[in-house]
Amino acid sequence: MLPSSVTKLSFRGRDFYIKRDELLHYELSGNKFRKLYALIQAPSSQYSKIISYGGTQSNAMLAIAYLANIKGWKFDYYSKPIALHVKNNPQGNYKKALGLGMNSIEVAHNEFEKIVSGLFLHVNAHEVLIAQGGADKIAQKGISVLADEICLWQEEKKIEKLHIITPSGTGTTAYYLAKCMPTYKIITTPVVGESEYLRTEMKALGEISENLHVINTEKKYRFAKPYKEYYQIYQELKESGVEFDLLYAPKMWLAFLENIEQFDGDFLYVHSGGVSGNETMLQRYKFKGMR
Ligand SMILES: *Cc1c(COP(=O)(O)O)cnc(C)c1O
Repeated sequence: MLPSSVTKLSFRGRDFYIKRDELLHYELSGNKFRKLYALIQAPSSQYSKIISYGGTQSNAMLAIAYLANIKGWKFDYYSKPIALHVKNNPQGNYKKALGLGMNSIEVAHNEFEKIVSGLFLHVNAHEVLIAQGGADKIAQKGISVLADEICLWQEEKKIEKLHIITPSGTGTTAYYLAKCMPTYKIITTPVVGESEYLRTEMKALGEISENLHVINTEKKYRFAKPYKEYYQIYQELKESGVEFDLLYAPKMWLAFLENIEQFDGDFLYVHSGGVSGNETMLQRYKFKGMR
């Protein structure tokens, strides 16, 4: 399965390379595959349970549910109270994860922080606790494999100057890419919050490398909200040959195109996966009359 392939994408009169990590697996795809790689490699006898926490439509949650299912591990997932209509009629990632045997544990809003911190104090040797969104030191192993694949590929292709692009939620992927590839520029944009939030998230992993470039769009976008520009660029990219996700990739491409003049050289976009979530996002776009 590894290394993932690289294809060329001609888009708006320029050529970009795309690292096709979304093709590694449909649900356990993209950077979730990389971040969970150390656990994918672990023998099933090593653990009996994975524990994590966060939102109920998270791609990380679904990826962990797959992993646990394949390995025969239990999966406890802590979240804030779930709306009754969602519980009665689960949708999307939440529905899939429940189908894979995820044990969903609801915690009151005001208790959430306390209970989550408590989890870290009580993991035993047969359990793994993964921080929200896979923002965990365990991710470094898989990201370093990705970094090695890129370096080898670049050598083979004899590309002189290569910059790496990938969108950020928690920033874990971009953070470790920058750390593992100190001679490359790693270009990212915050999709979940502002740049400040992204830096705080990254600092929880360690010192941020100087080769990490956080760029942004002029316009502010809110996470998981449908935008006409998002759909347009998604559609245009798809027509050029590669389908990206609708949550993270559109903002990364918009920010990149707004800032492209700052960088000279060739570009490799690391596809971060998430295409399996497009079905429900496209329904929302349709519902809003945006497509
Ligand atoms: C999770 C996710 C991201 C964000 O990755 P981080 O390592 O948390 O920054 C980006 N794109 C997609 C499609 C994702 O599912």
